[in-house]
Amino acid sequence: MITLIKDILSQKPEGQEVTVCGWVRTKRETKNLIFMQVNDGSCLASIQLTFDRDKGIDAETEKALSKITTGASVRAVGTLIASPGSGQALEVAAKTITVYGEASAETYPLQKKRHSFEFLREIAHLRARTNTFGAVARMRNQMAFAVHNFFQERGFQYVHTPLITASDCEGAGEMFQVTTLDMQEMVRKALRDKMDPATYTLDYKQDFFDKAAYLTVSGQLEIETYATALSRVYTFGPTFRAENSNTTRHLSEFWMIEPEMSFFELEDNMELAESFVVYLLKWALTHCRADLEFFNAQIKPGLIEMLEHVVQTPFTRITYTEAVKELEKRSDAFEFKPYWGCDLQSEHEKYLTEEVFKGPVIVTDYPKEIKAFYMKQNADGKTVRAMDVLVPGLGEIIGGSEREDNLAALEKRMTELGLDMKNYWWYLDLRRYGTVPHSGFGLGFERLLLYVTGMANIRDVIPYPRTPKSAEF
Ligand code: ATP
Ligand code: MN
Repeated sequence: MITLIKDILSQKPEGQEVTVCGWVRTKRETKNLIFMQVNDGSCLASIQLTFDRDKGIDAETEKALSKITTGASVRAVGTLIASPGSGQALEVAAKTITVYGEASAETYPLQKKRHSFEFLREIAHLRARTNTFGAVARMRNQMAFAVHNFFQERGFQYVHTPLITASDCEGAGEMFQVTTLDMQEMVRKALRDKMDPATYTLDYKQDFFDKAAYLTVSGQLEIETYATALSRVYTFGPTFRAENSNTTRHLSEFWMIEPEMSFFELEDNMELAESFVVYLLKWALTHCRADLEFFNAQIKPGLIEMLEHVVQTPFTRITYTEAVKELEKRSDAFEFKPYWGCDLQSEHEKYLTEEVFKGPVIVTDYPKEIKAFYMKQNADGKTVRAMDVLVPGLGEIIGGSEREDNLAALEKRMTELGLDMKNYWWYLDLRRYGTVPHSGFGLGFERLLLYVTGMANIRDVIPYPRTPKSAEF
């Protein structure tokens, strides 16, 4: 049984024999001593191996040592002792080492101590071997686990909503199409048949699903169907958006967490969202401490303090109308002038959380024009029961709402928006049979990771980022 380095490092050094497997980060040599830092990704810390020629090194091991450079994979055996050197509490007084694979010093790209994130993005297949990306990967794992824990502790059932769908949830038209039609051949045939370009349309009856199909932009509509059977459910999976927004906050493929709860009204939804955010940040603060301290020191000074502040501060609740009033007081300070009916911009969200309320804010009751068709309409005829959770240092982290559960009201709104009712027959059935008040929200997993790691670019918190014009690996 191989012991992980994190487990070796948590042992008491009593001269016990240990076997270390991992990748060499650095190797340093004096006349009689050879020091090596070995990392296996199980934790941020590397373990130090020390070879002492005065104590004798066998010929096999000397031969192996001569082949070892940064990046080589090794297996070493020695005894765990308290380190006489500064910088680490423990080290391994190593006796033997074998090399699994060398890493040529001439070509192995991870030689320097620090590489730019841009450069590392080009070698995304190797970047998890650096401190930063190892820490991001462990944090991502922990936060995913925390998400499941939170919901499982509260009686939610995990539901796998489909990735291929025929309905456009947000009606935004930013979807990737899924087809097996041979596009090249379709064009050739149309030209051969001298089709009139003005009237020619693709025949989806010949396509795989008998109709146009897409990659999902959200599991929301499908998760609602299970909420109205199992009461409390959530989905957590990849979503896809073909939006051409080349920002540090948008990916074409990202992961989303979407809980949906029957019998929850907007107030219940807000309460759940607040406890969810607090739970996740607390988890990061306790279960990811070493990595978090690394981010705090190397990536974003003040990160831990910011997270602790959010955990300790009750979330302010205001309506959109109140929020706009606040923003209008300082209209001159914004690039985008706020007015009732506008979508809140990042600068507005920052101002509300960082200047006005100095903490997280939940904004509710947005104008219906800027929100999705399925949100429950208020009696004023102008606003809907939407809620966005805004946090200092990021802005929107969660978007959600109570859903329209009244069939007539929903149909009326869909007609106003020109949605084709027959595509949503199953969604409308939920209002036709045993309808209940229900609510839910969506949290972009990578936005959460940006927040808890302090990383600046969303491309650096997912193993293989997909963005416009970029899908290597
Ligand atoms: P934004 O205004 O930032 O584009 P949105 O209003 O389009 O977000 P929603 O449709 O409400 O976002 O999606 C729910 C959540 O998914 C958002 O709160 C955000 O955390 C995340 N999200 C949305 N689009 C992306 C994307 N392209 N890449 C990564 N995360 C995203
Ligand atoms: Mn968007």
